Amino acid sequence: MTTPFTGKIFNKFGRMSAVALMAVIAGQSAFAQSPLAKSIDQKAPALEKKLVEWRRHFHQNPELGNREFKTAEKVANHLKQLGIEVQTGVAHTGVVGILKGGKPGPVVALRADMDGLPVAERVDLPFKSKVTTEYKGQNTGVMHACGHDTHIAILMGVAEVLASMKNELPGTIKFIFQPAEEGAPEGEEGGAELMVKEGVLENPKVDAIFGLHIDSQIEVGKISYRPGATMAAVDFFSIDVKGKQTHGAYPWSGVDPIVTSSQIVTALQTIVSRNLDLTHAPAVVTIGAIHGGVRQNIIPESVKMIGTIRTFDEGMHSYVHKRLNEISSSIAQSAGATATVDIDVMYPVTHNDEALTARMIGTLENVAGKENVNVIPVKTGAEDFAFYQQKVPGFFFFLGGMPKGKSVAEAAPHHTPDFYVDEGSLVLGVRSIARLATDYLEKAKTK
Ligand SMILES: [Zn+2]
Ligand SMILES: [Zn+2]
Repeated sequence: MTTPFTGKIFNKFGRMSAVALMAVIAGQSAFAQSPLAKSIDQKAPALEKKLVEWRRHFHQNPELGNREFKTAEKVANHLKQLGIEVQTGVAHTGVVGILKGGKPGPVVALRADMDGLPVAERVDLPFKSKVTTEYKGQNTGVMHACGHDTHIAILMGVAEVLASMKNELPGTIKFIFQPAEEGAPEGEEGGAELMVKEGVLENPKVDAIFGLHIDSQIEVGKISYRPGATMAAVDFFSIDVKGKQTHGAYPWSGVDPIVTSSQIVTALQTIVSRNLDLTHAPAVVTIGAIHGGVRQNIIPESVKMIGTIRTFDEGMHSYVHKRLNEISSSIAQSAGATATVDIDVMYPVTHNDEALTARMIGTLENVAGKENVNVIPVKTGAEDFAFYQQKVPGFFFFLGGMPKGKSVAEAAPHHTPDFYVDEGSLVLGVRSIARLATDYLEKAKTK
């Protein structure tokens, strides 16, 4: 069986590390001397107390996607106080700040996401979240279990540092505080996709965008990134298998959708293991839930399964769709059942622009120290930052938030009740983002 891969994203892989490496060597000394860079490196550490205060405030008061009302209000007030032009209510609760520098130049966008998750916090902290809500009909806690509280605090800090050097900035900075990165509530639009739709990358038109994600399993002080495809494209799918209901004691008089669904689940495993060229790029097909039946002695009429697909390449992406449909419908047909497959294309690949990455990685090396900046393998998780990157060159990286001396095995993953971030990461976050912005503007100036 042949697979029609385009090779579009992954073919760039091998080349890029070399390009990035050259830029590291070329970039480091060029940026280090800039007065703006020096000023950022001095001012950011002085902000640490405020950063911790902001982060703890947001941590203790998390809000779910498209409901970040109080969070947005605090962010907007902060930006206004700094003399930054502010738009509110963008894509529901988003806040956009525009800081026009005293000198002409390009427009750089910096993005932070603001939403929490329906997770009950288990970490024993004085600023632990006690917020509860109803989510999809269930009572649950609300927690910043992905660390977006640190992202808000970091970008507020960046705004404060950059506003203080407004007259010297050769260009414009757009601060994007985005709602609903983790997804909008059912029936609503949201997140980066809606921000883009509502024109956040226009007026003034953005030339490049930067963003970071805290990582609870990367040691504090370290930064990780990857040129090109970095995080996966995501699809959600459902398979409805319809058979014929009958008494559990007389299976021959019906069509059993449970047995059929079991065969489909097993056969779907062969998409990744037997249909895709995994030397080209990884892929994942997961069934996350199976619902069917009510009691021991009834073979039900139907079974519903839901799952997710993760890919890094357009050709593999469409091929998984094709096989998912073929396998489900032909197995169902062979049993006398039917299978209806629905696929929702959710997020595109988070793709770091190769040229931009190569140009900016020297900045991160300079800020964190060369030995602390590492290239990592692709992540099969996803990020809606990808929607900005579809429109303008963007660079997204990971900031270490794991306490020093802790092992990855001990550090709780994101989205879990024990998720924990070391606040020692905040100043490096501010320095990284602020320096990416000013180094980008200054480099454009000297071009
Ligand atoms: Zn998350
Ligand atoms: Zn996140």
